[in-house]
Amino acid sequence: MSVFTNLESEVRSYSRGWPVVFDRGVGSVLHAEDGTPYLDFFAGAGALNYGHNNPVLKRAVLDYIERDGVTHSLDMNTVAKRDFLETFENVVLKPRELDHKVMFPGPAGANAVEAALKLARKVTGRQSIINFTNAFHGMTLGALSVTGNSLKRGGAGIPLVHATPMPFDNYLDGQVPDFLWFERLLADSGSGLNDPAAVIVETVQGEGGINVARAEWLRALQDLCRRHDMLLIVDDVQMGCGRTGPFFSFEAAGITPDIICLSKSIGGYGFPLALTLLRPDLDVWEPGEHNGTFRGINPAFVASTAALREYWTDDTLEKGTLAKGEQVGRVLTGLAEAHPTADLLPRGRGLARGLRFADGGTASAVCAAAFERGLLMETAGPDGEVAKVMPPLTTTDEELERGLGVLVDSVAAVL
Ligand SMILES: *Cc1c(COP(=O)(O)O)cnc(C)c1O
Repeated sequence: MSVFTNLESEVRSYSRGWPVVFDRGVGSVLHAEDGTPYLDFFAGAGALNYGHNNPVLKRAVLDYIERDGVTHSLDMNTVAKRDFLETFENVVLKPRELDHKVMFPGPAGANAVEAALKLARKVTGRQSIINFTNAFHGMTLGALSVTGNSLKRGGAGIPLVHATPMPFDNYLDGQVPDFLWFERLLADSGSGLNDPAAVIVETVQGEGGINVARAEWLRALQDLCRRHDMLLIVDDVQMGCGRTGPFFSFEAAGITPDIICLSKSIGGYGFPLALTLLRPDLDVWEPGEHNGTFRGINPAFVASTAALREYWTDDTLEKGTLAKGEQVGRVLTGLAEAHPTADLLPRGRGLARGLRFADGGTASAVCAAAFERGLLMETAGPDGEVAKVMPPLTTTDEELERGLGVLVDSVAAVL
């Protein structure tokens, strides 16, 4: 028995699948305290797009702390926050012709989602939100109300209301025209659907099983939102910051969400930081109407600024992500072809990839086999039936090949 099993709550989860004690992390590799290296194709569920202890970010943070730069500042003005805001505007917003304002809602992805939902309700005076099947938006009550997973919803202990799920892209296996049901409900005064304040969507559902929405589906969704006065919220907490290639995951579809949620890798170094980006005319907040103690973690601003300058002032990272993603895709397709009776389905975009197995037991056995061989991968999907392949975007070609080799061996060992 260890302090983890004795003292830490039963709610712990990742530590169960990977029962070692991690100590050091460098790039795409985590080291257990006994020195065993593990190739990390989990990347903090998308919080470590730039790898563990990225040297460029580390230097910036160490320098900042060394000179006694302010660490905690609620939402006071600091030099670090100014640098971050100016860099975010110049490197991310302006080149994409986005004029969104930046709100700091609290440090986690769920905080960004809660702020988005609150704002949509305040702006429109409506209460109802449309979410999608298999969505994941976080663990607080508002975010949970728009999340699909029944185990997670069950943890709420109260009814989760004011949200109506609609079928995500391809939920009905392409048999029914997109938005047929949604549009019918909106148009029919007898449908019983309350007028929605907003629609919240992930362009690729991460926790939901790497379900990719097609660009044309996203464009049709934006069009539907505009025609029916619903705000479009894109939750880019996991798929943003380059996970699918471009900085925002919705860029490929050419849509402009009214509200955008960012967290996970926006803190750069694995530091907690979240942003809710809002169209300027939606900025109807009263000062302090949404508040929080940890909305100004300056080392996170410093790391984030360094990451934006290092990786987003040219397209090297984006191109590398797309090329590496293609390579992962080819290996996953090869696996599906090599095991024709196993019902394997490769999924994903950029470096958000997954392989769907026939059931959750097989997927978790593959992840366990990978762990034994020194590779960290997690499962996703409603029954945990998808093995997720999400290396840091900075992973080297050699590491990618090695990890994919381990995955191939692990699948062969289980099937
Ligand atoms: C992880 C995640 C969240 C929640 O972020 P937390 O930091 O865990 O609160 C919300 N939305 C999406 C899409 C996520 O992947």
